[in-house]
Amino acid sequence: MTIQWYPGHMAKATRELEEYIKRVDVVVELADARIPEASRNPVLNEVLSGRPKVIAMMKKDMADDVVTKEWQQHFSQNGESVVLVNAKHNQGVSKLVQEVKRLAKPRMEALQKKGIQNRAIRAMIVGIPNVGKSTLINRLVGKNQADTGDKPGVTKGNRWLKVGKQMEVLDTPGILWPKFEDPEVGYKLAITGAIKDERLVFQDVVLYLIQQLHKRYPEALEARYKLSQLPEEGVEIFEAIGRKRGCLIAGGDVDFDKAAEIVLRDFRSQKLGSCSLEAPMDSY
Ligand code: GDP
Repeated sequence: MTIQWYPGHMAKATRELEEYIKRVDVVVELADARIPEASRNPVLNEVLSGRPKVIAMMKKDMADDVVTKEWQQHFSQNGESVVLVNAKHNQGVSKLVQEVKRLAKPRMEALQKKGIQNRAIRAMIVGIPNVGKSTLINRLVGKNQADTGDKPGVTKGNRWLKVGKQMEVLDTPGILWPKFEDPEVGYKLAITGAIKDERLVFQDVVLYLIQQLHKRYPEALEARYKLSQLPEEGVEIFEAIGRKRGCLIAGGDVDFDKAAEIVLRDFRSQKLGSCSLEAPMDSY
């Protein structure tokens, strides 16, 4: 599903998010471990209303472990709480639950002092499209509960789903819009599948991917496409890949659209390994 975001939508979404956040004890902010900065939206921090927040770095299985560790350190140094998650294979999910419980403790103790006993900790999942929100909710609550929302007559958006005995999660996640302003961020979001932006030229997106892979994982490119020596420029590498894979049009020129599809599919299905597209060092 692609949602078109306009300023009016964004303002409305922000207000709704703010309202929901007031009802929870902890916010779980989802980021894509391959692009932990590009996949977040700072507007979330503006509406937290003092609620504690944990960053769940999703799809950790698809990212470069070394770079992910650097991000973890980077976030921790900035006072953020971080948990690495692979929701597809149920890794890090119980650790995330523990972290939510830890962060909720002061609020729950304050409630107890007011005489409110035994209320479950309430959490909410928030993130940009395709970051793994539904997958994580399903993992947290178990399939049966989450699925009931799809039955006719059951309205989503207002139910608390049980996560064990002491925790609940809102059945509908908060959807943040991706950042559009910076073209480099747009490329990263398009590569990882967070956006389908018609304003971005497909070949440009993949050229950016090739440039990033050339910079960060040249061996992966060499090995996958059997290129004994990588050319200097991204566009030359693009062309070489096209030739190796027989993506040609009449006259013998390279069919860049076809080559682009191959590279993007390889990246997304991890045929190029586990690759991160940004590192904390990049901004220094
Ligand atoms: P949402 O739009 O944020 O609700 O995202 P979804 O939960 O629908 O997930 C989008 C895609 O990412 C699906 O194909 C999921 O299977 C996949 N996905 C979600 N979490 C993970 C993860 O931790 N690892 C991997 N490899 N894939 C994941």
